[in-house]
Amino acid sequence: YAAKRAGRSTFADYDPSLNHNEHARRNLELDLRTAIAEGQFTLVYQPQVCLKTGEWTGKETLVRWEHPVRGRILPGEFIDIAEDTGLIIPLGEWIIRQAIEEAASWDEPHRIAINLSPVQMCNPNLVTVLTNAIAEAQIDPQRVEIEITESALMHDSETNVELLHRLRDLGVRIALDDFGTGYSSLNYLRAFPFDKIKIDRCFVSEMLERADCRAIVRNVIMLARALGMETTAEGVETKEQYDWLRRHGCLEAQGYYISRPLESEMAARPAASREES
Ligand code: C2E
Ligand code: CA
Ligand code: CA
Ligand code: CA
Repeated sequence: YAAKRAGRSTFADYDPSLNHNEHARRNLELDLRTAIAEGQFTLVYQPQVCLKTGEWTGKETLVRWEHPVRGRILPGEFIDIAEDTGLIIPLGEWIIRQAIEEAASWDEPHRIAINLSPVQMCNPNLVTVLTNAIAEAQIDPQRVEIEITESALMHDSETNVELLHRLRDLGVRIALDDFGTGYSSLNYLRAFPFDKIKIDRCFVSEMLERADCRAIVRNVIMLARALGMETTAEGVETKEQYDWLRRHGCLEAQGYYISRPLESEMAARPAASREES
């Protein structure tokens, strides 16, 4: 198996029609196929905190690739390759099953948020995969939250509306991720059945320095509330941001100020010193 992989990598290394970046990408793509076959992925979990009570309410699943040579690789480097090659389908199914299974074993019944790629939304098996994972883990479906981005909803919106309603019928919650960063349309908030809006880090990180970001965050919180949706602020890194969000009625926060992503065995335990290295 390893010999086969090395052979393919060598071939990619010497393809003269590819530039350096394309080589790197091609090699990563070949490695990614092996990684999926061999299960080289782990999940880490970043806590989300209720701003009223200060208690953890949920955790977001973030995938990590434990590359045998390069070490841990972050999703920013491989998710788009996985999407372009369709490998996100088997990888995404593994993430769904693994995250739900792990969450079912946690001491506390925190919510488990799972990122869904737009490519996965086109997979006709998605509802079945989720249904089976929930049934096998015997987890309350209300504990499962799917995070999707606006870009996933742009195309073929009628099918997507139907899909989100089917997920909702399973009892799963739906969060709109990275709100405000894509080609946002307020119409999405009306057309799709979201339980929650996640306010993107780009607004939160500049919120205290910039009046325009502050205005956006304040108004997204009010808009969500008026529409009966929850809000989670992402990328909260300071006490000042945390306090401001709490004062302005944001429901939940997530970010390094609260906790970095945690290794899975540790995410089950509410004790200290368990952060991702
Ligand atoms: P995202 O869904 O917006 O996830 C939040 C990202 O922000 C994570 O990066 C997290 O580690 C990082 N983060 C959290 N708090 C802070 C903070 O206070 N400051 C800063 N600077 N960063 C913070 P990560 O794990 O590298 O993931 C990057 C993106 O990759 C995610 O963005 C998501 O779009 C994608 N991704 C991660 N895991 C999965 C997955 O399982 N499936 C899919 N389809 N996409 C995933
Ligand atoms: Ca997310
Ligand atoms: Ca996000
Ligand atoms: Ca993001």
